Amino acid sequence: MNDVSTEEAAANAQAASQDVSGYAFQHDVVRNLICRAGRYPEIASPQDWYMALAYSVRDRMLARWSASMKVYAEKDVKVACYLSAEFLIGPQLGNNLLNLGMQDEAREAMHALGQDLDALLAIEEEPGLGNGGLGRLAACYMDSLSTLEIPAIGYGIHYEFGIFDQEIRDGWQVEVTDKWLQNGNPWEIVRPDVSHYVGFGGHTQHQIDDQGRLRVSWIAARQVKGVACDLPVQGYRVDTCNVLRLWKSEAVESFDFQDFNAGQYYEAVQEKVVSETLSKVLYPNDEPEAGKRLRLAQQYFFVSCSLQDMLRLMVWKGTSIEQFSDLFAAQLNDTHPSIAVAELMRLLMDVHGLAWDTAWEITQRTFAYTNHTLLPEALETWGLPLFQSLLPRPLEIIYEINRRFLDDVRREFPGDDACVARMSLIDERGDKKVRMAHLATVGSHAVNGVAALHSDLLRQTVMHDFAEMYPQRFLNVTNGVTPRRFLMLSNPGLAGLIDQTIGAGWRTDLTQLDKLAAHADDAGFHEAWRAIRRDNKTVLAARIAGATGIDVDPNALFDIQVKRIHEYKRQHLNALYIISLYHRLCRNPALDVAPRCFIFGGKAAPGYAMAKLMIRLITGIAEVVNHDPVIEGRLKVVFYPDFNVKNGHWVYPAADLSEQISTAGKEASGTGNMKFMMNGALTIGTLDGANVEIREEAGEENFFLFGLSAQQVDELKRNGYRPSDYVQANDDLREALAQIAQGRFSRGDPDVFRPLVDNLLRSDPFLVLADFADYVECQDRVSDAWRDARRWTRMSIVNTARSGKFSSDRAIGEYCERIWNARAVRIDLAQP
Ligand SMILES: *Cc1c(COP(=O)(O)O)cnc(C)c1O
Repeated sequence: MNDVSTEEAAANAQAASQDVSGYAFQHDVVRNLICRAGRYPEIASPQDWYMALAYSVRDRMLARWSASMKVYAEKDVKVACYLSAEFLIGPQLGNNLLNLGMQDEAREAMHALGQDLDALLAIEEEPGLGNGGLGRLAACYMDSLSTLEIPAIGYGIHYEFGIFDQEIRDGWQVEVTDKWLQNGNPWEIVRPDVSHYVGFGGHTQHQIDDQGRLRVSWIAARQVKGVACDLPVQGYRVDTCNVLRLWKSEAVESFDFQDFNAGQYYEAVQEKVVSETLSKVLYPNDEPEAGKRLRLAQQYFFVSCSLQDMLRLMVWKGTSIEQFSDLFAAQLNDTHPSIAVAELMRLLMDVHGLAWDTAWEITQRTFAYTNHTLLPEALETWGLPLFQSLLPRPLEIIYEINRRFLDDVRREFPGDDACVARMSLIDERGDKKVRMAHLATVGSHAVNGVAALHSDLLRQTVMHDFAEMYPQRFLNVTNGVTPRRFLMLSNPGLAGLIDQTIGAGWRTDLTQLDKLAAHADDAGFHEAWRAIRRDNKTVLAARIAGATGIDVDPNALFDIQVKRIHEYKRQHLNALYIISLYHRLCRNPALDVAPRCFIFGGKAAPGYAMAKLMIRLITGIAEVVNHDPVIEGRLKVVFYPDFNVKNGHWVYPAADLSEQISTAGKEASGTGNMKFMMNGALTIGTLDGANVEIREEAGEENFFLFGLSAQQVDELKRNGYRPSDYVQANDDLREALAQIAQGRFSRGDPDVFRPLVDNLLRSDPFLVLADFADYVECQDRVSDAWRDARRWTRMSIVNTARSGKFSSDRAIGEYCERIWNARAVRIDLAQP
């Protein structure tokens, strides 16, 4: 792009987009095939065609991107910066075509070139730069920011290896390295000229300067260079194109190889290897891994690069440093980027020479923090020795923030030393640790939870003291998901039917889906609705057959639980229900049960033995149930491997029933629940996370509720929970556990599931057994409802109709208004 002016590029792109014949686009694809891939059509592989197509689409976006950047540079705008260690963006081609409004044009152009667009879409590698919900949320928010025309930058890490690919061998999860970059990434632009240096280790020097002020310099032991890899984020049917800037680590080559003898040469190369390791791999865990030096280094690396980048943009734009927080709002997606509080202070004071008070005011005005968990074990802390050795200067700053903060605490709660100890940024009990959630809270002007229930519990439990001290700082922003990817792109059939029925206004204002409710009793509409849902189920059935060899009947109830495998998400509760249903049928083969297909998907963290055992339990049940002649195919159990964004496109639109069965009080929000609802699935769920709001919106008659409430969970635990009481009281439960323990689902080996069964019987920390009976009863209500197709279809339509609240556009609107003070800025490619 360097040798083409913005105007010229814009004019070209505009000319191309006005060409209705698609010929210009076809021409672009061939040009990219020849000029970028060095291939000609007769010998091009599908991969070559995919790359050529992707580059052609990217060219369209780059024109919009340049136009956007030009406006941001010239106008007085506020930029929302979303700092996140994960962005689970999913495949890009289809979504970019959708947002550019050129799906048909691309299909026709590729057809004219003898290529099938769907085949090309299928070969795209997914950038798995996140673990699950948290990373996917960041990606949905980037989509909404561009669609709502908000100037925005996403800042994160360019992992060379993303989340592992999951294979199932012999019933067990096997992790396979994710080599998403092996064929190159056509969407990214690497910018060696946009790079920053990040120091680690060493020591600090304190000096008084000639104005009598304390100046601190950090003499780092080593430096790493961060290079920007930019991905364009195109808004839906607008010209706004923002950027997702991911940092890749590189060694700083400050030495001359000639000057080194052999020993030093290898040391120098070793240094290079260590530096490049920083952005090598994503930690495949939802929860922090205590004491992992590399993980803290990754966090500091991307945060420091991002803040230096913001300061560079500020200088380049000619804004004065005092106005930093007028130019930028920065959201901390969980505590992973929370070191930013100390790092911005360091940059403002040590590099830009500001005094503490000015720097602190700017810092607090800039940051806001999103909490994602109530689980105390998931709140991130770092041991002091590790912190000291890696980040000596940021730690000094944290000490000073803490000293001043605790003075405030003592003024607020005089004489309450216990409170001071609880709120301190340093946990002084046992091995001392830095509490990252406290740092994020103290350094931000807003702290939010991600669903109404979660935000309430946050104020009552882990953040109680802070909520007392700063009540106005705490608020709720319920999560949302993008209807572009999760409805329009992945369920085009349903999207088309909705267009025909209520017009296309819902595409940019999802609350308009409520107009569908007027058609909830229309027989013709029911028929169309069911036909589309059946088609979606047929497509998923074919995927399942391809991936697992299991045949499933699209007429069966598709009962789906896809999400990370975790004890608190309770896939084992679902498994116990399947076993009990299976036993019921074995005892009474003539029992009239509605055919059901239980579909599971999700990855377990490689070091999480219990979660891996839960996968084995599901595959073990599948081995038995799917082949038992007594069942006559009435029950099918599937573990669909490698659940990721791409596979989610097939799964969410094909679900009749969405399983959202976490222990109440444990799931902060959930977003899978929202994707299912939008696509017309009914939810069976506990009063947890956003389920509460889903039920409120759908109406309680359109939601299958079961289980203990968060408060009841709390009480039961306080009064001494005894799982064995529930086993004694329930024959089905006892039988199911006994069969697992005897090896019925582990090819006769009674040892395999012993840890799982023992855990449930002895402690059952997530109250699986306490909720079992109610869950079974609720599932029976589901079966009854399913038998009445008219009733079920009505409930399905109403669920979609009431899902408007769960658009990420609504969520981003709230962040802009209540936290960032950011506004839309119109980009018009026609008027550069
Ligand atoms: C939406 C999504 C999630 C989050 O699912 P939950 O049910 O909210 O836990 C995880 N992984 C992928 C690939 C997703 O698309």
